[in-house]
Amino acid sequence: MKKKLKVLFDNLCCSVCRSGFDEDSITIKRQEDGLLVVNLSCAKCGKNFGVAFVGLSDLEVKDESRIPLEIQEGPEPITYDDVIDAHRFIRDLDEHWREHLPKIN
Ligand SMILES: [Zn+2]
Repeated sequence: MKKKLKVLFDNLCCSVCRSGFDEDSITIKRQEDGLLVVNLSCAKCGKNFGVAFVGLSDLEVKDESRIPLEIQEGPEPITYDDVIDAHRFIRDLDEHWREHLPKIN
């Protein structure tokens, strides 16, 4: 599994020491049906890059060799409208905000 995940970070490197990420950089925090929670840290300098949610179905159906390319293309740059949308979304959250989180357990 980690080998598969490593593909996701193949073209990236640590912003602190510039060393690439390998399997030791990835810690699987949780493994649920169709969802992985992984922590990425630099195996060399120890810089922690936080937690990422990975949809497993995405990983399974795609040709592994294509994944890094798709990551490079990346999401669209964040626009002003996106910021406003996010602002409204956060502003309108009420006491039920937890329901917007992925269900774990
Ligand atoms: Zn580093």
